[in-house]
Amino acid sequence: MGRISDKLAAGRTLSYEFFPPKTISAALTLGRTVAELAVLRPDFVSITYGAGGSDRHRTGDVVGWIRRETCLEPMAHLTCVGHTRTDVAGLLVDYRRAGIENILALGGDLPADGSAVAGDYSYALDLLSDVAAAGCFSVGVAAHPEGHPRSPSLASDRRHLADKLRVADFAITQFFFDIEHYLRLVDELAALGVDKPIVPGIMPVTNLAQIQRMAALSGADVPQWLTDRLNVATGPNEVRRIGVDVASKLCADLLAAGAPGLHVYTLNRADVAREIQVNVGSAVV
Ligand SMILES: Cc1cc2nc3c(=O)[nH]c(=O)nc-3n(C[C@H](O)[C@H](O)[C@H](O)COP(=O)(O)OP(=O)(O)OC[C@H]3O[C@@H](n4cnc5c(N)ncnc54)[C@H](O)[C@@H]3O)c2cc1C
Repeated sequence: MGRISDKLAAGRTLSYEFFPPKTISAALTLGRTVAELAVLRPDFVSITYGAGGSDRHRTGDVVGWIRRETCLEPMAHLTCVGHTRTDVAGLLVDYRRAGIENILALGGDLPADGSAVAGDYSYALDLLSDVAAAGCFSVGVAAHPEGHPRSPSLASDRRHLADKLRVADFAITQFFFDIEHYLRLVDELAALGVDKPIVPGIMPVTNLAQIQRMAALSGADVPQWLTDRLNVATGPNEVRRIGVDVASKLCADLLAAGAPGLHVYTLNRADVAREIQVNVGSAVV
């Protein structure tokens, strides 16, 4: 049991992110992945949430299962766009009863067709205030090193992030491939008076087309040097090997630069996350 804020205060953290499975076969895969990664003793694991509540029960089921059946510390992601305050109050009661102590408070993405969304929340900060007011959760927020795609400017995104971090305990970043984006984010937040831990999010590449799609949605850049390396790979195994090498080097550089932890996007697979951990060694745990 434990609050992520306490774990970050005690030292560097290692964490893994999963998404809620939609089929029985995917649930079995996640169960195996959780068991395989548990032996690496991560400080916490987080479970994503479908924007607008589409994964509401699945996220709750998975964090509850992790709380009951494993020795891992779960964090529930929660997005607010499309939710009412009553929805959120009900979810927070459920989480508290299930012994969940950590919430990642997020805005969530708007519908791709641009249609309006009903609900009581516009921004993650509003949700964050409600979660913090509940008084029993350690609360994190999302950070976007290269800026959020809906932001009119990087400066305005930084100001809104700083506002969130005056309330939240920590941030986890969107993925990035160039460490300079992370270092700049940390420096610019410090200049705005923020000293909360900013945990970098690491996305190992196992498929170039998939990562390009994700990057286009999230505002991250896939640098030319990475595309060039992956384009000459001779098959999926080599793409995977390059992805592990690139992520391992980024993790080692981030730790050397003083990052407070590493948060690895696993896409519910254990093998790549495990190889990165072996490469980076015990520096993080
Ligand atoms: C670590 C991490 C985990 C994630 N997990 C999930 C998940 O589980 N499920 C999911 O659906 N999505 C997830 N996302 C994606 C996230 O929901 C989207 O990026 C979303 O579009 C923005 O979320 P946010 O919390 O940064 O929103 P916000 O902080 O609300 O920011 C959204 C935009 O609004 C701007 N803004 C903020 N406040 C104001 C204001 N007062 N006035 C004007 N503009 C403002 C910001 O600069 C930004 O451009 C995750 C992202 C990260 C980095």
